[in-house]
Amino acid sequence: MTTIVVIGGGYAGLNAVKSLAKRTSADITLVNAHPDFVERIRLHQFAAGQQLRPSPLAESLRGTGVELVVGRVTAIDPARKEIDVDGRAIPYDTLVYALGSVADDHGVPGVAENALTVAGLADAARVRDLVPAKGTVTVVGGGLTAIEAATELAESHPNLHVRMVAGHAPGSRLSANARQHLDRVFRRLRIEVRTGARVAKVLADSVVLTDGDEPATDLTIWATGFRVPTLAADSGIETDHGGRIVVDRTQRSVSHPDIYAVGDSAVARIDGQELRMACATAGPMALYAAGAIATRLKGEEPKPFAYRYYLQCISLGRKDALVQLVDAMDRPKRTVFTGRFAVVVKESIVRGARWYAYR
Ligand SMILES: Cc1cc2nc3c(=O)[nH]c(=O)nc-3n(C[C@H](O)[C@H](O)[C@H](O)COP(=O)(O)OP(=O)(O)OC[C@H]3O[C@@H](n4cnc5c(N)ncnc54)[C@H](O)[C@@H]3O)c2cc1C
Repeated sequence: MTTIVVIGGGYAGLNAVKSLAKRTSADITLVNAHPDFVERIRLHQFAAGQQLRPSPLAESLRGTGVELVVGRVTAIDPARKEIDVDGRAIPYDTLVYALGSVADDHGVPGVAENALTVAGLADAARVRDLVPAKGTVTVVGGGLTAIEAATELAESHPNLHVRMVAGHAPGSRLSANARQHLDRVFRRLRIEVRTGARVAKVLADSVVLTDGDEPATDLTIWATGFRVPTLAADSGIETDHGGRIVVDRTQRSVSHPDIYAVGDSAVARIDGQELRMACATAGPMALYAAGAIATRLKGEEPKPFAYRYYLQCISLGRKDALVQLVDAMDRPKRTVFTGRFAVVVKESIVRGARWYAYR
């Protein structure tokens, strides 16, 4: 019997493993560093003091026949077709790589020592524990995660002074309508937005900006994007400059055809454009890859992966959100939805993502 090992039990890995269990009669193992599925797209809420629903992977996998190994993958040996999990060798015929991503410090000095992130459960828990009741929290970054973190913290901690620092206006890739709404929300939540200068260094009680200014801060949250672990590149699997596995149109590694990569760890392209690291792309990639593996096990060739974007959803605390309609290539259209309707849409998508992966 063929052996499939899926590494990483996030949105991509868990979707892949569930689908493989339904579609194949292979021996399937899921390896994940934590015993729980982490709803990563709620980590800014968790950092702001809200609870996450308990989600043990063992519960999710009950009745599927999938073996769960809780441990950290430390090496992949593609020549021997085995992985190392905390010193234990696990062999595979097919490997599905779904190790996700971590916060990217872009090499800025002081981030590791003096800043926290909301990119992983342990980091977000530290933010939750250390966020002061009063004082200043500086959120570095102007992308969607920075916006979600800043608004959530400002709403949950009304006595806190939340400051965003970004080289460009937050949400600069959104439409003009969306940016206008963001400005209104930042004013309502009294979030200070500083643009035009980047953070050159993070100190224990201030951030040093490229324009020479050095605003004081009680806590710094680094939210300037994600990068992937170096494990794939270190194992000799072909990756791009950022360490994401280069795959063909069937999510299969271009250097190792018995390895598939899905989610943030894979650099998949549709019509030449890289899919962005997102829960919205991770799930479809994973379901597709499971189908491709099942098809090949039957001796047939799968159709290439197809994907199109419809919208981007951004939470702005619990009382507001932004739904930005986009075209198939993720370019913003004029239409945005805000307020209660957008909150319902965003919440339904977040719940749906959990339901689909975890059930
Ligand atoms: C605060 C926040 C808000 C977000 N909001 C959105 C949003 O609204 N919409 C959206 O589309 N995306 C959002 N994202 C991005 C989204 O969370 C990721 O793109 C998505 O989680 C990627 O799924 P994945 O399965 O590839 O990785 P992950 O969900 O990160 O899962 C990777 C899994 O691999 C495990 N793992 C890692 N290394 C090892 C190892 N060495 N050994 C064993 N296991 C390992 C991890 O423990 C984890 O379980 C958000 C991210 C954050 C942090």
